[in-house]
Amino acid sequence: MSFAVKIETCPQCRSRKTENLVRVEPGCPVRVYVRCSECGAFVARYTLERYTSDKPYESLLKFSRRGGCSIASRSHAQELEGFSKKIETEFKETTEAPFTELKVEEIICELKR
Ligand SMILES: [Zn+2]
Repeated sequence: MSFAVKIETCPQCRSRKTENLVRVEPGCPVRVYVRCSECGAFVARYTLERYTSDKPYESLLKFSRRGGCSIASRSHAQELEGFSKKIETEFKETTEAPFTELKVEEIICELKR
């Protein structure tokens, strides 16, 4: 198994409806808190190495100039990634894979052995 795909479920009510709360804080990596839309329970937290936009890199450049910050600075360039053919392919591959019922913890242990 080269990769596994799972739809996250709430540990409390088993719902698959979740909300991503994206926390951006200076000096910290972007964090995503996953909350159950049905009961509000904590589902998971992700710490991001990189945030991939749905917009191509060129439009991110325009966006960041308008906001007065320079995306060209090394730290921003590392943290922000524009939408690309590679991401589109990865997204398609991910959505088309059969979903596993394993827990994310189990998948990580199995794949990182
Ligand atoms: Zn729930």
